[in-house]
Amino acid sequence: MGNLSKNFSLHEFRCNCHWKAPHLPRCEQIPPPKELVDALQDVRDHFGKPVTVHSGHRCPPYNAYVGGASASQHMKATAGDFTVEGVSPNTVQEYLLKRYADTKGIGRYNTFTHIDVRKGKARWDYRR
Ligand SMILES: [Zn+2]
Ligand SMILES: [Zn+2]
Repeated sequence: MGNLSKNFSLHEFRCNCHWKAPHLPRCEQIPPPKELVDALQDVRDHFGKPVTVHSGHRCPPYNAYVGGASASQHMKATAGDFTVEGVSPNTVQEYLLKRYADTKGIGRYNTFTHIDVRKGKARWDYRR
């Protein structure tokens, strides 16, 4: 039972700087918007498998540290990089692309999926 939705809790979206880049100053968490939590809950419900959020909010110093885009949605806490247990990222991405024809940011990677709830639509494919 999560504190944001049926399966998601605030701590899952916390910036990773405190443990992956402990030399950076501690940052204040920006909570994810409901729209992002709803989209991830929809994925959780659709596949019926646990979803792991690997990167939610990123403070600007941590975003720079990991080489994130300079205007990354992660800095606004509107994005999540995630995997679904036992389901290939490719399958997850195909589902999202069908589910959201004209909205959201959806990024395809080999080992995870990026989704964000920006205004408008963005698509990219970094699979190699
Ligand atoms: Zn941080
Ligand atoms: Zn991302």
